[in-house]
Amino acid sequence: MFALTILGCNSAIAAYGRNPTAQALQVLDETFLIDCGEGTQMQLARYKVKWSKISRIFISHLHGDHYFGLPGLLSTMGLLGRSQDLHLYAPPELEDILQMQLDVTSATLPYPFYFHPITKPGVICNTQHIQVNTFPVVHGIPCWGFTFKEIRNPRRIISERVKAYEVPSDFYSELQHGKDFVNAKGTIIPNNELTDAAPRPRTYAYCADTIYNEAMIPYIQHADLLYHETTYPAEQAELAAKRFHSTTNQAANIAQLSKAKKLIIGHFSSRYEKLDIFLKEASAIFPDTELAMEGTCYAL
Ligand SMILES: [Zn+2]
Ligand SMILES: [Zn+2]
Repeated sequence: MFALTILGCNSAIAAYGRNPTAQALQVLDETFLIDCGEGTQMQLARYKVKWSKISRIFISHLHGDHYFGLPGLLSTMGLLGRSQDLHLYAPPELEDILQMQLDVTSATLPYPFYFHPITKPGVICNTQHIQVNTFPVVHGIPCWGFTFKEIRNPRRIISERVKAYEVPSDFYSELQHGKDFVNAKGTIIPNNELTDAAPRPRTYAYCADTIYNEAMIPYIQHADLLYHETTYPAEQAELAAKRFHSTTNQAANIAQLSKAKKLIIGHFSSRYEKLDIFLKEASAIFPDTELAMEGTCYAL
């Protein structure tokens, strides 16, 4: 299971039933929360994302629409009796902000909590199944995008062939890593006779809030799913640049240049009730585009 649920798709002001940014990425039995705008607790409940499965939280930047939901969420996790570890990856200043909120109420988090400051691009997290990289985007204050890439799976053993060639089971692990088998007579059985190729690792790329910036392309190339903000339609390019945001055409260009498989767009300005223009403009340049609407789940 590698799937993304959209919890919030609006920009700074919640409007027309749309909430500020938050997304839940499910990776097998773990859930990664990406940004945590105000109201994320409610959205998690609405879309039945299990709190207990959230093991890691990634905050792109310290504009309130990306983290004002976090103190409440951390506190509620404690009230719900959480005991398992929680890892938070965020700009360094967030640690003091959270600590100050705990201090004034003489509270502590009743579960193991690990803060990982983001200070430079590169790998920030490796789990058994996923590697998370961060990269800088351009947004007026320090802001980070993230890629979530599956770690290459081992090759799949073909059980009838290993039996037929009498491969001992203690050699299976070497087979899974591509080694040929040499039998008792010294005959070499090529690895591809005994195993199938592993499925291609999949990647989700999250570009946070950003102006149009082709410098991010090397970090996000060939994503299976790419999220790029589109705060404004194309005609507002000047306003978008002034506010360090992007337009529909710009998001679609980044998707095209980075050879994404699929683009989802969000962070819509509260000026717009109807979002048809966003979809129309972006998909004219990059056809496989969808609005990142709340409650939608994208399987990678
Ligand atoms: Zn924002
Ligand atoms: Zn922002």
